[in-house]
Amino acid sequence: MKIMPNRMDYGFLKYQQEFEAKALEVLRSGWYVLGKEVETFEERFAAYTGGKYCVGLANGLEALQIAVHLLGIGAGDEVIVQGNTYIASVMGITMNGATPVFVEPDAYYQIDADKIEACITERTKAVMVVHLYGHVADMDRITAICKKHHLKLIEDCAQSHGATYKGKMTGTFGDIGCFSFYPSKNLGAFGDAGAIVTNDEELAKEAKIYRNYGSEKRYYNKVVGMNSRLDELQAGLLNVRLPHMDEITKERQEIARRYRENIRQELITLPAEREDTETVWHQYVIRCERRQELIDYLSQKEIGTIIHYPIPPHLSEAYAYLGHKKGDFPITENYADTVLSIPMYTGMTRQEQDYVIEALNEFA
Ligand SMILES: *Cc1c(COP(=O)(O)O)cnc(C)c1O
Repeated sequence: MKIMPNRMDYGFLKYQQEFEAKALEVLRSGWYVLGKEVETFEERFAAYTGGKYCVGLANGLEALQIAVHLLGIGAGDEVIVQGNTYIASVMGITMNGATPVFVEPDAYYQIDADKIEACITERTKAVMVVHLYGHVADMDRITAICKKHHLKLIEDCAQSHGATYKGKMTGTFGDIGCFSFYPSKNLGAFGDAGAIVTNDEELAKEAKIYRNYGSEKRYYNKVVGMNSRLDELQAGLLNVRLPHMDEITKERQEIARRYRENIRQELITLPAEREDTETVWHQYVIRCERRQELIDYLSQKEIGTIIHYPIPPHLSEAYAYLGHKKGDFPITENYADTVLSIPMYTGMTRQEQDYVIEALNEFA
């Protein structure tokens, strides 16, 4: 049986008629950028998260970049972020000229709340929390730290659509929640798309101006902005997928439950779910000290896996200028050396799940 790490086509086929009808509707409408589909999506996505305002943007990276910018963070400022994140989180900071300050992750792959305060300096302006793999960070602790030190709080929710902490959805704890709707994300579009969510009316207004060349009124430019508009086709397709999110999330949680209950393998550490949180399993990330052997073994059985991520940002060539070296963040580096994402996607059959489970259990 051949099993890919992800199957975006299954996610399309499941709601194919609805997607196709909406795509045709948008194509025939004669209106393609910033229109009623975007407005509808912004209203519905804000309501979905429990946030007050949503502003649709071109992608997740620009959501982060714009969030950092709108919070007044730039050159000379520091932003605290976990070391084991996707590099886009860090780029959202450095594109504004600010400096990322890395913190080690906890046992749930999230920023270790115990290690944040030691990293705060007079230059620290914000904490960026990344709810990595669809797990949730320790939000009570982190919001308390931000409040105590008067720091802004940004959430990178590119992997955590629908994930909750004590019943409250990620993206609504801080000043701005940043989302990506890249096709492989839990709420995926069919191209690039992103958004921010905020309870601050002024920030939402500024984001709408900033995404459109800094203009509120056509050809009257208030600030030097950028083009980070969400298009009607992507917004329309997101409007089709959004009402199915509960179903999409439940399906992933059921696969995770079956993995947890049936994988019996001493050589593998399974991911744990933090108390009081609901994980949405963007990835199911196991750890194995003999990772390369495991990858080769699984690939012989035609089971595809992915490493999220093999090189932590502090060791990436792009960030050599920050001056970090191997050994600076041992937990982050250990995760980079041992993590492995096993197949997890909408439409994954029980037979496929059992095949993966059996293969893992027989690894020796
Ligand atoms: C995907 C992702 C992003 C970037 O989103 P794009 O839409 O691809 O720009 C940012 N942060 C994390 C954690 C991501 O997984």
